[in-house]
Amino acid sequence: MSIHAQKAKDFIANEERTNWHDGALWHVRNKRDISASGVPEWEALRNTASQIKDNVLSNLDTYLIQFEAAAKANGVHIHWAANGNEHNAIIGDIIDKHNARKIVKSKSMLTEECGLNHFLEDNGIEIIDTDLGERIIQMRNEPPSHIVLPAIHIKKEEVGELFHAQLGTEKGNADPTYLTKAARTHLQNKFFEADIAITGVNFAIAETGGVVICTNEGNADMGCHAAPVHIHCMGMEKILPKLEHLGVFTRLLARSATGQPSTIYTSHYHKPESSKEMHIVIVDNGRSEQLAKEDFRNSLKCIRCGACMNTCPIYRRSGGHSYHATIPGPIGAILQPNRDLKAYSDLPFASTLCGSCSDVCPVKINIHEQLYKWRQEIYKNNELPKSKVTSLKIATKVFKSPSTYDFLGKFARASMKALPRFMMYNKFNDWGKHRELPQPPKQSFKEWYKNKNNE
Ligand code: SF4
Repeated sequence: MSIHAQKAKDFIANEERTNWHDGALWHVRNKRDISASGVPEWEALRNTASQIKDNVLSNLDTYLIQFEAAAKANGVHIHWAANGNEHNAIIGDIIDKHNARKIVKSKSMLTEECGLNHFLEDNGIEIIDTDLGERIIQMRNEPPSHIVLPAIHIKKEEVGELFHAQLGTEKGNADPTYLTKAARTHLQNKFFEADIAITGVNFAIAETGGVVICTNEGNADMGCHAAPVHIHCMGMEKILPKLEHLGVFTRLLARSATGQPSTIYTSHYHKPESSKEMHIVIVDNGRSEQLAKEDFRNSLKCIRCGACMNTCPIYRRSGGHSYHATIPGPIGAILQPNRDLKAYSDLPFASTLCGSCSDVCPVKINIHEQLYKWRQEIYKNNELPKSKVTSLKIATKVFKSPSTYDFLGKFARASMKALPRFMMYNKFNDWGKHRELPQPPKQSFKEWYKNKNNE
């Protein structure tokens, strides 16, 4: 069984959680639909965003250099990291230089991707995630299960127990307002004690050298305003050419993510205050390689809204952790094989290829087509399990021969009626483990169609 299948099996063992997780994400998807349908030019916005990103990907080197020059002129320190280790080392050096011991961080999937928290903790540095969902999963010592709603797999009662154990809240109190207030008090102290604040970046503007951070909690701003040093970590694909392009993306991002017209805070950082330091770390970590792959390069258009996860029937019913990757869901399933084809060869198969992900994607990434393409690559690279290769070869032979197909259809219909149950439902029948096979029809569709035409 693949890692995804095993982890999905563990997740769906709790039927109540599975149904509730499915329903919660579908609710977010519905909010996205209502919000998007309120913008008459929605499809035009998607097309424009996709075209802007096409331009960015075709001229990435030029825009990055332009961004670096503009940011340096603003007094910002720019660092380049080829991979996660370099990213962590750069941040480690800044921390050492300032003799810092306490760091606050606002939500950043890039720092998750680079393993920054573990790196800093191993070096004796306290790092506190300040986004509420991120803080909850950090306290549980878990990775996020969703890129926008990192703790969507956790019920409020579980948060109540966690806060009781770690923050001393009232036992049995799972009221969200009460728990949020407790988290706010806990985090307030962390903000004021912090030596350095770290944030992710939603957009970086080549023209101005500024970065833009979208949050609902204002935690990125709180951290950056309170700490004497702030560091912004960005994947190199986050560039937009001009400030005038930003509005296209901010209109799409929050609506696609949660159905809000915009995030509560859309903060622009251009230069440090006179007594402070501002750093930007630009990270590659496999993005150049993805850019070079014609079939997969436009996955770099992703603005991390999470809409493809909320709509995906597999994601909703298997949970984000089943993808065993930093970015889960449909977009994760096309990004991760680029990093390690062997380790993530199961992910492109965790899809029905229904195309709903591509339909909701605000930057029009052809996600389901790339999933299908990755399946072909995985087969060509001999990364498919032998059992799957064998069954696909048999299926190919059957589908290529109408007479064999007709014969096996007849045989299967007769067997399903005649065979005892234990021969139909056993360890070889994965499909039947959780489902009843349908009653076999009296005739095949082909026979029915022929008879109808003869009548
Ligand atoms: S692939 Fe598209 S829908 Fe999915 S997170 Fe990225 S931008 Fe959003």
